[in-house]
Amino acid sequence: MILFNRAPYCGTEERYIAEAIRGGKICGDGPFTKQCNAWLEERFSAQKVLLTTSGTTALDMAFLLCGLRPGDEVILPSFTFSSTATAAVLAGAKLVFVDVRPDTMNIDETKIEAAITDRTRVITVMHYAGVACEMDAVMDIARRHGLLVVEDAAQAVMSTYKGRALGTIGDLGCYSFHETKNYSMGEGGALVINRPQYNERAEILREKGTNRAKFFRGQVDKYTWVDFGDSYLPSELNAAYLWAQLEHADEINQNRLDTWKRYYETFQPLAQEGKLELPVIPEGCAHNAHMFYIKLRDLEERTAFISHMKSKGVSCVFHYVPLHSAPAGLKFGRFHGEDVYTTKESERLVRLPLYYGLSAEDVRAVTAAARSFFERTH
Ligand SMILES: *Cc1c(COP(=O)(O)O)cnc(C)c1O
Repeated sequence: MILFNRAPYCGTEERYIAEAIRGGKICGDGPFTKQCNAWLEERFSAQKVLLTTSGTTALDMAFLLCGLRPGDEVILPSFTFSSTATAAVLAGAKLVFVDVRPDTMNIDETKIEAAITDRTRVITVMHYAGVACEMDAVMDIARRHGLLVVEDAAQAVMSTYKGRALGTIGDLGCYSFHETKNYSMGEGGALVINRPQYNERAEILREKGTNRAKFFRGQVDKYTWVDFGDSYLPSELNAAYLWAQLEHADEINQNRLDTWKRYYETFQPLAQEGKLELPVIPEGCAHNAHMFYIKLRDLEERTAFISHMKSKGVSCVFHYVPLHSAPAGLKFGRFHGEDVYTTKESERLVRLPLYYGLSAEDVRAVTAAARSFFERTH
């Protein structure tokens, strides 16, 4: 069976985890966490990065930092993972879903402005498959309306838009290091803070509502409870695993891009024959090969495709059930405008196996299995 995903592993993880154990400090904000934060800040020219326990809790922090009040609205795509939405709901927001563009499956920037009301506070973008949303347009709308921008860049670590790292363009950005993402620490994530005025509040939020971070820097002589907060610090053991991955970041990225290109080139003739559609990477976007998906005719053909691939020993998956049609989406939000593409496109999208270390031989087996599907049904 060719698995859909395997957790990224470079070979030095055990050594670093053992080092963390021997160092006697396995709780949060030890040397490995600090190294990871600093690496991410430097590599992505980010003002400040803080590792968190997950991409979801990074989003929780981002929306809490936005300082929402009851009734405030957050604009977001409906085609996204539940975490994007639930973090906004936890912070008290009402959700306003906007349609996606069919080419990238990202929020349609031309439909955002019409969804703005006098209660709107935040525009949330999610860079699907590590391919950037149209950030110049999004930032321009936000500036003109005085709104904050949160980037769900969970899938977009190492991707850029016009040369800038995704996650560093909005006010706040969120990364995930879940085992299904390009770089992993088992469970984990990071908050990217692009405006220094959020630094202090973020540290307090992350340290159970205390000013402990300031205390450790010697800026206050005792530490105390100063605001509400939570515990968002990952263990050093997880950070040690991530450090091994970050040291191999370019190698992992290149390996994934090679697989992605192999898929793309092999499927191009089928796309030209109109049997499937391939992902689109707009001008100015450098992606990280987070995923490779194709689009089939409709839901029925996709279902047949997935079971055909399974019969050939290849595991393929789909996502997302649009949030606005999910029970919680109905409860916490509304869709603004017409759902032209969100539901229709999500129903025909399917993801193929893609992970660090997937062999060229397995890629050939996947593409051969896919080709046999089209030969069979057309
Ligand atoms: C993976 C993912 C998350 C959540 O990350 P976790 O680390 O699993 O909590 C959030 N948003 C998107 C778009 C994701 O793909």
